[in-house]
Amino acid sequence: MRSLLTDLITDIGYEVRAVATGIEALEKAKTDGYAVIITDLKMPGMGGLELLEKVKAINMDVCIIVITAYPSVESAAEAIREGAYDYITKPFNIEEIKVVLRRAVERHYLLKEAEQKEFYQELSILDDLTGIYNHRHFHDVLPREIARAKRYSQSFSLLMIDIDDFKKYNDTHGHLAGDELLKKIAKSFMQAVRSVDMVFRYGGEEFVILLPQASKQNGAEICKRIHDSMKQKLPVTVSIGLAGFPEDGTSKDELIEKIDSAMYQAKRLGKDRSCIFGEED
Ligand code: GH3
Ligand code: MG
Ligand code: MG
Repeated sequence: MRSLLTDLITDIGYEVRAVATGIEALEKAKTDGYAVIITDLKMPGMGGLELLEKVKAINMDVCIIVITAYPSVESAAEAIREGAYDYITKPFNIEEIKVVLRRAVERHYLLKEAEQKEFYQELSILDDLTGIYNHRHFHDVLPREIARAKRYSQSFSLLMIDIDDFKKYNDTHGHLAGDELLKKIAKSFMQAVRSVDMVFRYGGEEFVILLPQASKQNGAEICKRIHDSMKQKLPVTVSIGLAGFPEDGTSKDELIEKIDSAMYQAKRLGKDRSCIFGEED
């Protein structure tokens, strides 16, 4: 039956590897990439359901098709509940095999594509909307900057920026206009800082700016520049919290806590301003 099926599928135009046991199939599934695995349910040693479970554990995007005899379609239903993609019936029907295989192969490539997309998005350091660095990258960069500043006994400063009343802007102009404004704001931040500074989209409408080798005084000047340039060009204001390494914290969590608290102080004091941690009253 195995060689009959191999011939049929080869004739349809697919490349086939045939093995005699579940164990061999699992070994091959571990080392080679397969779109589809076709397996009998009852086999000596490792049965079809066990093979299914083990293959799915190592490769989620391979599609498994089980073989069932007409009288036992119920066992195929069970296999599908366990994660099989589809079944073919014995005696073999070439048209049925063609349809089931084509669907399974298409499904496999869809799954693979989705997985790769996710993978590359995760690897990516840029925010999709604004094109500036994303949150993930900030969490990679900050510890590196801390280590570097420690090693060379340098200072740096960190800003947390939250747009004022952005919800109101969205409610008035629509979410899409809000997105457009976020892009412009990101751009204006990029223009307000030096080329060594790094601007991150920290959350929805929150940004963080890392200013290497800058004192808190230098940071405060950047804050002023940001407020001024926004007043000229943009219809919203921002609240900024500023903290400095090493005086306000020497760990990532400490520094984030400090800029967050300074930013909230700026909100409490009436927004459209900056608060420097340690000078906030
Ligand atoms: P506050 O001055 O206190 O910051 O008021 P706010 O309205 O800005 O309040 P908050 O910072 O809590 O609000 C975040 C709002 O920002 C909620 C949401 O509608 C909007 N927002 C967050 N992410 C996005 C985004 O990606 N696009 C758009 N258009 N709006 C966003
Ligand atoms: Mg916010
Ligand atoms: Mg806000």
